[in-house]
Amino acid sequence: MPDPDRHQDIRDAVRALCAGFPDEYHRKIDAQRAYPAEFVEALTKAGWLAALIPQQYGGSGLGLAEASVIMEEINRAGGNAGACHGQMYNMGTLLRHGSQAQKALILPRIASGELRLQSMGVTEPTAGTDTTKIRTTAVKKGDRWVVNGQKVWISRVQHSDLMILLARTTPLAEVAKRSEGLSVFIVDLRQAIGHGMTVRPIPNMVNHETNELFFENLEIPAENLIGQEGQGFRYILDGLNAERTLIAAECIGDGRWFIDRVSAYVKDRVVFGRPIGQNQGVQFPIAEAHIEVEAADLMRWEACRLFDAHQPCGAQANMAKYLAAKASWEAANACLQFHGGFGFACEYDIERKFRETRLYQVAPISTNLILSYVAEHVLGLPRSF
Ligand SMILES: Cc1cc2nc3c(=O)[nH]c(=O)nc-3n(C[C@H](O)[C@H](O)[C@H](O)COP(=O)(O)OP(=O)(O)OC[C@H]3O[C@@H](n4cnc5c(N)ncnc54)[C@H](O)[C@@H]3O)c2cc1C
Repeated sequence: MPDPDRHQDIRDAVRALCAGFPDEYHRKIDAQRAYPAEFVEALTKAGWLAALIPQQYGGSGLGLAEASVIMEEINRAGGNAGACHGQMYNMGTLLRHGSQAQKALILPRIASGELRLQSMGVTEPTAGTDTTKIRTTAVKKGDRWVVNGQKVWISRVQHSDLMILLARTTPLAEVAKRSEGLSVFIVDLRQAIGHGMTVRPIPNMVNHETNELFFENLEIPAENLIGQEGQGFRYILDGLNAERTLIAAECIGDGRWFIDRVSAYVKDRVVFGRPIGQNQGVQFPIAEAHIEVEAADLMRWEACRLFDAHQPCGAQANMAKYLAAKASWEAANACLQFHGGFGFACEYDIERKFRETRLYQVAPISTNLILSYVAEHVLGLPRSF
């Protein structure tokens, strides 16, 4: 079990950076539906978004445990790591499955901040969670792959230079297993947008830059295929375990933020002649949320430990994300409820964080799909779909 104190230096340094971006900054960005460019740039310059890049490529060579601490601290400080967490988990696909040439070409430039790898294009409007049914295709033509299809909810495309793309390279009808015949590519967004790829932003409940993407004969150089053709689903799953664990850490950061805020408030707010926090009807939901956040944290460390040891961690990553998203949502509800009407005022930042943490019941994987994964793959119950 990793020792959380081991990360105190990272926590202190990220907290110090985040202190330069107080609540007012994030509130203003949210109201303007803008991208926190200065904040992400500060994180990049300080090297935090290159944490997972090995030292030989200019990064700090840290593990998922350390990366998760960075994400947790951003959310705990009142920010939203959703603006930049893509770089952390997309890196995993390249790191674990990219060729030496791809890594040598790209990783040092990401580490220096010259390139951003913030986007991953998996979800499609018709397939939804049923990823193996995606309809976007990539067909080899000479030294190029030609991509046609559509994606939806693809985040940070307008603030990234590269995107990891999942496309079908062998038709579903021609593969033995439905998870085969899918491949992963690196798309250079600077070349693709306007030359076979169109981006249509999706305004949404959270201040989260996310988009519909349309591909019409987009050409990608052959060397942009990651790993082996047809094995992309497996590579993406590896990346998704990192993503789920990092988002669990963000939810833990959110949960602690909500609990800190509400605990301070209910001690001070006097109604009926005493602090509202003296009532057990107020205390218990806060205490319950705290217990759930702390329990989720233990599962997050277990997922990190296994991932960093290159051991299977699908169950732990999913369970960590499930527990943490549930805990942060409970904490958000308690925080909003016990602020009474003030919880709805933007200047308290609770309604913003409330919206942000709610997303994690649905994305990047919905709660139902985690339950289904655990039922089938951990408990051995009959496959349901
Ligand atoms: C803000 C935002 C950002 C996102 N960013 C990205 C991104 O960068 N890249 C990317 O690829 N995707 C991204 N996504 C997509 C996200 O991963 C999906 O929305 C999510 O996986 C759910 O898929 P869906 O929306 O197609 O829901 P559907 O698959 O249509 O499911 C809808 C609901 O039905 C339930 N459901 C479906 N099937 C079953 C079943 N068999 N049993 C029980 N319940 C079921 C689900 O739990 C879900 O709640 C993002 C989404 C959002 C909202």
